[in-house]
Amino acid sequence: MEILLARDMGFCWGVRRAIDIMEKAADEKGEIISLGPIVHNPQVVRELEERGVRTAGDLSDGDSLPVAITAHGVGPEVLEDARSRGNEVIDTTCPIVTRSQRWAKKMAEAGFTLVIFGDPNHREVRGVLAWAGANAIAIQDGYPLPADLPSRLAVISQTTQSPERFAEFLSRLMQEHIGKISELRVINTLCDVTSSQQAAARELAQEVDLVLVVGGRSSANTRHLLDVCKEEGSVAYHVEGPDDLMAEWLKGCERVGVTAGASTPDSAVEAVVRRVQRLGAGLEGAASRG
Ligand code: SF4
Repeated sequence: MEILLARDMGFCWGVRRAIDIMEKAADEKGEIISLGPIVHNPQVVRELEERGVRTAGDLSDGDSLPVAITAHGVGPEVLEDARSRGNEVIDTTCPIVTRSQRWAKKMAEAGFTLVIFGDPNHREVRGVLAWAGANAIAIQDGYPLPADLPSRLAVISQTTQSPERFAEFLSRLMQEHIGKISELRVINTLCDVTSSQQAAARELAQEVDLVLVVGGRSSANTRHLLDVCKEEGSVAYHVEGPDDLMAEWLKGCERVGVTAGASTPDSAVEAVVRRVQRLGAGLEGAASRG
């Protein structure tokens, strides 16, 4: 069984940067609170906890430790709350997300209604929405567009969406609302790293019998990688680590592809590859004995 790795996958510079900032802060200050998991990956969160990064959903009264904002960013009200409580703020928001936040604020101030193509429950999207204030909505892929959209719209995307899906969304918006739109601004807030990893996953999916997409269950960019592999007609599974891998998935596979989300450490990919090798060797041994 041959194992092929995607030509671009795994840790992006934005996640690497956030982890570096948090590690340095924890080393200097002893303990810090991360508002939410720093990235959607349990291994990374565990390793940071060992260095003094405590994950919390929100700030409790009496918490005086420095507060770290994760790579997904937060709305301005969260920053104000932390500062007004006297907590030092360590901001690891990815600069690509910061750019989306700035556009959201700028467009809202210019009188546009902000439309974000993305998951309204995702932390990045919630944060960006908050920068735009009241006149902002998020619309998830595949969901119907509201019938009563205002006439001046600024459209951006969650950074990890696929360019193809964003283009489809824009085309649907134009088809369904062109008669009501007086002004439309489209700002490309897609992340290059994610787009490149998705393109690499598409190529990989065309070359193999099965793709394993390694990453945290709640990682949006990992789930999008899974979607693009399936769009290419490939059999694809999302695994968080080697224990999720089922031997029967590999039966009859000659080429297995492996890719990983932007928050997946190399160690998780390596562990999955080792398990594929072990299971593959077991299947080949059984076939030759049979
Ligand atoms: Fe930043 Fe892109 Fe990495 Fe997200 S995937 S943290 S937007 S570089």
